[in-house]
Amino acid sequence: MSKAVLVDISKCIGCKGCQVACKQWNDLPAAKTSFSNDLGNPSDGSGYTWTHVRFRTVENGDEVKYRFAKHQCFHCLEPACVSACFARALQKSPEGPVVYYPHLCVGCRYCMLACPFSVPKYEWEKTFPLISKCQFCFDPDGKYDRMRHGMKPACVSTCPTGALQYGERGELLVQAWNKINSNTKYVKHVYGEKEAGGTSWLYISDVPFETFGFRTDVTTRPLPEYTESYMRMTPVVALSWGALLTGMFLYTKRRNEIAREQHDQKPGL
Ligand code: SF4
Ligand code: SF4
Repeated sequence: MSKAVLVDISKCIGCKGCQVACKQWNDLPAAKTSFSNDLGNPSDGSGYTWTHVRFRTVENGDEVKYRFAKHQCFHCLEPACVSACFARALQKSPEGPVVYYPHLCVGCRYCMLACPFSVPKYEWEKTFPLISKCQFCFDPDGKYDRMRHGMKPACVSTCPTGALQYGERGELLVQAWNKINSNTKYVKHVYGEKEAGGTSWLYISDVPFETFGFRTDVTTRPLPEYTESYMRMTPVVALSWGALLTGMFLYTKRRNEIAREQHDQKPGL
């Protein structure tokens, strides 16, 4: 069974501990922020901010609720980004995380188009940008790995209210429905149970998911099915797609080699 996280939006106090813990664990630099009406800081994820907390005010008659929701890669069970990536820079692991391997990425950005949740971000600030996204603290060969050492993701470990729960997906789903069925405050929906064929991040909430811009029109059919059938039906598109991507791969590979050579030749580096 694969690992997952259950987010209870009604328990989140918007402290942003998860946002900071993610940056600290993954050595991500601080992002320049500014005031905005939605009080998000920053308002959206970026190449340097893999998770961010959205703030919303919900009014119902005389009642006003302040609610916060952490957003990151959903680590889909059948990820559209993986099916779109011909370079295999995105791979689904049996443990649950959808892992990004930067050394395989050619920067074509098809994953950004494919993802139904607008998660992968492009490193616009860099001279040779790549993609960036939450790795679920899973790093098969590297120093950022927590999952394979039996540790919870950094964001879950730091959450002071228990709004984030880590465990087996099947068990978390049972817990989620138990909570919903025993407390009328919850919306009768586990977001991520079926969206895009199911995701490893599951949400329950006492306010509508649309409040946070969660897409409720996402198909429950796994998205790679659409990609594959589309490609089967259009051999011409498939052939030109392959040629285009191969060309881009070779171009980007050479571009990166030149950048590396220039970097190595600089004195004092
Ligand atoms: S949320 Fe987007 S980037 Fe994350 S696994 Fe799903 S399709 Fe890929
Ligand atoms: S650490 Fe927990 S309570 Fe704080 S913002 Fe993140 S999810 Fe909410």
